[in-house]
Amino acid sequence: MFSFKALLHILFPEVCLTCQKPLHTNEHLLCTFCSNELPKTNFINYPENQAEKIFYGRVKIKQAAAYFWYNKKNIVQELIFQLKYRKHEEIGKLLAYWVAYDMKQSERFKNIDCIVPVPMHPKKLRKRGYNQLSIFGEILAKELGCNYDETVLKKIKNTVTQTKAGRTKRWENVQNAYVLAQIDTSKYEGKHILVIDDVLTTGATLEACTLALQQIENVTLSIFTIAMGV
Ligand SMILES: [Zn+2]
Repeated sequence: MFSFKALLHILFPEVCLTCQKPLHTNEHLLCTFCSNELPKTNFINYPENQAEKIFYGRVKIKQAAAYFWYNKKNIVQELIFQLKYRKHEEIGKLLAYWVAYDMKQSERFKNIDCIVPVPMHPKKLRKRGYNQLSIFGEILAKELGCNYDETVLKKIKNTVTQTKAGRTKRWENVQNAYVLAQIDTSKYEGKHILVIDDVLTTGATLEACTLALQQIENVTLSIFTIAMGV
């Protein structure tokens, strides 16, 4: 006798998000082949990694890491595209479990008190319906046993899409776009905040967010992104 789940699988086989091949019952979202192809950076374990170096001389952070290498035609690009534009929050969940597992094994990402995502402008948030970082951040925080807080930072300028802009242009776009929200931030004084984003490219957005958060007294800041441009 088939279980209901097995029957559903036969009637509506799930396909791999990236190669579209039918998934086996023990696979979830990605087939085993595609999962193994994911280009991990292993930055979680390594100080002075390339993600960290981006911020040298710009903002004071404790540490930074990006989880995958990102490029235009790889699986990671597809994953992030799906997460952003196709409401595939399941991807955020799966990624959070992977990242949490690695962070718990590492000495570097201990003692985080709160995870804060790069905020979206309210207009954009209304249009898309959700911040693609929410599920990822919530699950990661739960797994690490810390808070998740979307109310600390606010985006006050609706910047144009960053994809084609160069470094100077991007910096102009994001300058002053992020501010501390008008909330009581005293609970974060002396705490360690992990700022998260999906893709790290020039670092301008994260630099702007970090500068805003530095107004909190004695705060320690670290940065984590799902991927980093090659
Ligand atoms: Zn696949």
